Amino acid sequence: MTAVGIKEKCFFCQADKNTGVNVLTAFICFDCEREIAALSLDDYLKYRIFMRDIKRLWNGLGGEERVFDR
Ligand SMILES: [Zn+2]
Repeated sequence: MTAVGIKEKCFFCQADKNTGVNVLTAFICFDCEREIAALSLDDYLKYRIFMRDIKRLWNGLGGEERVFDR
């Protein structure tokens, strides 16, 4: 993960942010990154959604767009 200073579209919330991290080929803004980092067992479902997206990334599918709002 590396911090970046240019505006990119967040992989999860689809917002254009200039602060965030790159994971694999995706950009994740700090808001989403913080949300992911703060996950507890109660948020396991959200974690699974995150992992599903990462897997989709990893597999290079990148088909449908979705918003990380659950
Ligand atoms: Zn975001």
